[in-house]
Amino acid sequence: MPTEAPSKPGKEELTSRASRVRLLVFDVDGVLTDGGLYYGDNGEVMKRFNVKDGHALVMARLVGLPAAILTARSSRIVEARGRELGLAAIFQGRKEKGPAFLELLAQLQIPANQCAYMGDDLNDLDPMSLSGLSACPADAVPEVRQEADFVTTNVGGHGAARELVELCLRASGRWEDAVGLMRSTDKRSTS
Ligand SMILES: [Mg+2]
Repeated sequence: MPTEAPSKPGKEELTSRASRVRLLVFDVDGVLTDGGLYYGDNGEVMKRFNVKDGHALVMARLVGLPAAILTARSSRIVEARGRELGLAAIFQGRKEKGPAFLELLAQLQIPANQCAYMGDDLNDLDPMSLSGLSACPADAVPEVRQEADFVTTNVGGHGAARELVELCLRASGRWEDAVGLMRSTDKRSTS
């Protein structure tokens, strides 16, 4: 038995795991955003989302791959963005992400091995280890990059989420359909 840390799955294994994914779960700060928190004069917090990531989440939903949010922080902005994208679940203010992840999966009735989770920091390691496919942006903390099955080329808030969507849709033969849908309908206006 090898004693060293497990290496990344090869392309074939990664494609196999990605093809089985039925739900995408994303952390918010540093994954769907660049991790920046903008504070206004009245104490309100603003975040910056990426419209191409948003399009990708809509594409995934349109071809039958839903997405959800699991975040330790809590804000109305995330609720609004999640609703705009038609997410299947929005779990906020959940500091213990492992149990919250299992609760989310139970609610949506998806087994953990058919779920992909993308996070960028240490509190994401529990849901990552529980999921069938773990992913992180290129600028995730080193411990997370080491554990992730799939490290994206893009950084958080700049296309990392879209890379995971593309991986899963290509692996299950749905990417071209999704592209076609976004080209030919006005549904893209929802993202
Ligand atoms: Mg984060």
